Amino acid sequence: MGASGVIGVFGGTFNPIHHGHLELAQAALNQLGLDRIIFIPAGQPWLKAGTPLAPACHRLAMVRLAVEGNPAFTVSAMEIARPGPTYTVDTLESLHEKLGENERLQFLVGADVLGDFHRWKDPERILQLCRLAVFRRVNVDESKIKEFLYRFPNSSGKVDVVDGDLPDVSGTLIREGVAKGEPLTGKVTGPVEEYINRYGLYRLNAAG
Ligand code: ATP
Repeated sequence: MGASGVIGVFGGTFNPIHHGHLELAQAALNQLGLDRIIFIPAGQPWLKAGTPLAPACHRLAMVRLAVEGNPAFTVSAMEIARPGPTYTVDTLESLHEKLGENERLQFLVGADVLGDFHRWKDPERILQLCRLAVFRRVNVDESKIKEFLYRFPNSSGKVDVVDGDLPDVSGTLIREGVAKGEPLTGKVTGPVEEYINRYGLYRLNAAG
């Protein structure tokens, strides 16, 4: 267990969950000393509206399979259960309400996400509700981090930039690979690979 009372909140489409996500979460535990991490698959990720999306029940099931057996990793279906587009600020407000002042929140993101952060609903409120942890990502320009800090000067002191040495894998590459018949080994965990094969996910047009 790390420093008391800091919970990592890890939102994403998880379409599907892969080793990049799991290594990011592990790096967050090790390097930021978080107590635990809550994985929260998005219900309707409005910023990825044009992307083929596997049904929420499948994405949630795969996240559960991937974190099974790791007591520091938990999963919440709160964003899937909430109707309408998924906004991180709503998730953080309800976690804050539920957990109270004693448990602080740190929201985990890959550096690519920062490029769009100003388009998220109520970004200033997000920065009041949590610290951010930004993980460097292969092929993502460092300038995204600098631009973010320039746009949100109030965030300085509330952002940890982490070099997790994370693998170059993404949901997009995986979906494209499955559609071409490429093996999933080394990109997702064994149980997630079995799940994708069992339900035939991502075979047609990289869609769920
Ligand atoms: P897609 O290609 O479908 O957009 P993704 O894996 O990039 O997939 P999400 O599932 O939404 O996207 O990722 C959730 C979070 O994890 C985001 O903050 C993203 O930046 C981060 N992330 C995902 N993969 C990596 C990786 N390989 N290295 C660093 N961060 C990552």
